[in-house]
Amino acid sequence: MLKLVQYDKYASSGRHKKPMKIFFTPGPSKIYPTVEKHMRKAFLEDILSISHRGTVFKKIFEETVASLKQLLNIPKEYHVVFLSSSLEAMERIIQSLVEKESSHFVNGAFSDKFYETSIVLGKKANKHNFNPEPIRFRVSSKPITRTPNSSELICFTQNETSNGTQIPLEKIYSFKKSHPKSIIAVDAVSSIPYADIDYKMIDVVFFSVQKGFGLPAGLSVVVLSPKAFEKAKKKENKGFHSLLNLVQNSSKSQTPETPNVLYLYLLNKVIKDMLKTGIEKIRKETEEKADLIYSFFEKNQNIFPLVQENEQRSKTVIVLKTKNDSNEIIEKLKRKNIIVGSGYGEFKNEHIRIANFPAHSLSDVKQLLKCFPKFL
Ligand SMILES: *Cc1c(COP(=O)(O)O)cnc(C)c1O
Repeated sequence: MLKLVQYDKYASSGRHKKPMKIFFTPGPSKIYPTVEKHMRKAFLEDILSISHRGTVFKKIFEETVASLKQLLNIPKEYHVVFLSSSLEAMERIIQSLVEKESSHFVNGAFSDKFYETSIVLGKKANKHNFNPEPIRFRVSSKPITRTPNSSELICFTQNETSNGTQIPLEKIYSFKKSHPKSIIAVDAVSSIPYADIDYKMIDVVFFSVQKGFGLPAGLSVVVLSPKAFEKAKKKENKGFHSLLNLVQNSSKSQTPETPNVLYLYLLNKVIKDMLKTGIEKIRKETEEKADLIYSFFEKNQNIFPLVQENEQRSKTVIVLKTKNDSNEIIEKLKRKNIIVGSGYGEFKNEHIRIANFPAHSLSDVKQLLKCFPKFL
């Protein structure tokens, strides 16, 4: 106990020495404000040492799944499993649900990774590019078209973190009707919990906790419909981390491996905090903050939103195009303790990416925008 008190003193004096940076990077990002408190509590409650086969762990697992279902309105017959990252989730989804063929709507670097995963795993993967490459000022609204009926899995990246575009959910839902035999999988890594998904219209949804949940990286969540689970059973992929084995374990509030118990504990606590705030309020505030950022840069000639069409603009990852080298602006903001993301891949020096997650308060956003006039 004495040690913890000393640690407390150390931590708070540490905080006074150095002003806090605000991370607007699109994941990892600003940590949800209550995480520090929950981590200390986890330490005191021995969460770091308990067995993952004991009753305390089972209760943590059960509660985390239940609170996730409550926050995101996931139907109770749907399955929830955990992996270490969303990139891993892509691999497990292809391995467990595709015998031969998948289709991918590619609107940026992350959807392309999903497509590449299928190729690497030896499947026939169909790629539908629906943004012109390279993306410059305008993203086309080329319609999303039909894909072969032989596609067992149809994949979307609802929120493209690489370029700040989003696919309206209704467009994704329409595939459930036009491709009744296929399984619809959605990467919603950087839009959940903002994205108000109708899970009945989708079979697989996955996300990582270092984006919208404001936690450290290293845990991802995969939500599966009964239909997706049936397919996993039929495919009989026997690996430890096959979706089949993960669901069979999770139905007993267990995991095949020794899991990161601390992260499950923290995720549950952060979701409970979000439930207290109310998901409606969180979603409304996300839109208000996004509007504030977009309208601030709208008419500017030097730094302006990359995506022109409102319908395609992400509310949670705002990408700005800069006339000059974006790295200079990023470095200047850093000196003001504002950390923003650079452009993704080939656009590293042309874009700035700003995360707008539930951990970011309205006052954080105002502070960010206050630092910009000098560059405009
Ligand atoms: C960050 C991100 C990923 C990868 O998540 P990891 O947890 O790093 O594997 C995948 N898709 C999208 C859209 C992302 O933003």
